[in-house]
Amino acid sequence: MRINIIGGGPAGLYFALLMKKANAAHEIVVYERNAPDDTFGWGVVFSDKTLSYLQRNDEETFLKITDSFEMWDNVDVVHRDEKVTIRGNKFSGIARIKLLNILQERCEQLGVDVRFRTEVSEVEELRKTCDLFVGADGINSTVRQRYNQFFQPSLDVLHNKYIWYGTRQLFHGLTLTFHANEAGVFAAHSYKFNETTSTFIVECDPETWSNAGFGSMSDAETREYLEKVFANDLHGHQLLSNNSRWINFVNVRNAHWSYENTVLLGDALHTAHFSIGSGTKLALEDAIALNDCFKKTDDVKEVLEEFEKARKPVIEEYQEAAYESLHFFENARDLMHLEPLPFAFKLMTRSKRIDYENLKRRDPQFIAAYEASGG
Ligand SMILES: Cc1cc2nc3c(=O)[nH]c(=O)nc-3n(C[C@H](O)[C@H](O)[C@H](O)COP(=O)(O)OP(=O)(O)OC[C@H]3O[C@@H](n4cnc5c(N)ncnc54)[C@H](O)[C@@H]3O)c2cc1C
Repeated sequence: MRINIIGGGPAGLYFALLMKKANAAHEIVVYERNAPDDTFGWGVVFSDKTLSYLQRNDEETFLKITDSFEMWDNVDVVHRDEKVTIRGNKFSGIARIKLLNILQERCEQLGVDVRFRTEVSEVEELRKTCDLFVGADGINSTVRQRYNQFFQPSLDVLHNKYIWYGTRQLFHGLTLTFHANEAGVFAAHSYKFNETTSTFIVECDPETWSNAGFGSMSDAETREYLEKVFANDLHGHQLLSNNSRWINFVNVRNAHWSYENTVLLGDALHTAHFSIGSGTKLALEDAIALNDCFKKTDDVKEVLEEFEKARKPVIEEYQEAAYESLHFFENARDLMHLEPLPFAFKLMTRSKRIDYENLKRRDPQFIAAYEASGG
């Protein structure tokens, strides 16, 4: 089979290597506009469950990933400068660039033709010259836009603004920090992803954003402002920029997942708000799910129908949880009056995937403290 893939992110690379591993005769080309070492952002996280899927599907990449990642089981909620720790939430973090390098090396080892620094703007020719055409080209997918009328995407732009920084302050565990000042309310999502660096994402509502005057601030001024807001948390460390800029999260959905021999994967197909930390997980699991469908038949049309049938309900469930989760952050201003323990409880149960009983099993001490505080 000849397979053309647009996008060498986690979805495109992992799908390419799984298919090549399953059948070395497949001719697979990945077109990636960036160089191997270019990347945006800092670290990404995934859950225990994702790791077990990775192990089952490709032991080599699994071992390299687990060799380079940071693991934790705590979520720390910081509100009114008080830290509440909730245990029993296993996650791991890895630098996005490290993850990409591992997947790139494995692709090369298996014989996938990854063409870096190759921007694709005209996709129809590439689509016509292969058996399977994959749009794994991220949130602004050219493939999705080109076949817009068939995929029928909906793009829902959220209210809050967020910006993705790094910092040398090491946050052990997922740390969710809230602060209010004269401009409004700020939330930070932070976690250590290697021995020296943490991801530090800041988000705020549009009112806070305009009150703070970010619209006319330079990158350095923005960082300086936020370093003051989070001074007690950063302990003198700076925020580090990597093409960081304020953006609004976009919820992507597609009414149809394929068109003739073309399918979308990862962020091109769907997004789920970063507060449930699942973008990379879903991208990798999409690749696994599509590869699994090819284990039953080589009939592309049949495979793509089966992929949508099996995978869509899973994605919809995540998107629902992510929607509930982002709601908490978009309305944080209305919850700031809560004491730290009830605030942390509300935050932990926001997506409805975790409830009181579940939390009690994960961390009985936290629930005991929450109840003692009056609930
Ligand atoms: C602030 C923020 C925080 C996040 N935090 C997390 C987190 O904690 N955990 C997590 O799992 N995920 C997180 N994510 C999401 C994660 O980065 C994405 O969901 C994930 O990378 C999706 O993988 P993908 O392969 O579908 O797309 P991408 O990683 O976006 O890869 C797409 C690739 O396609 C290439 N490309 C695009 N167009 C073209 C073209 N025309 N020609 C050639 N190449 C092209 C791009 O260069 C890119 O390399 C976060 C995202 C953001 C914005």
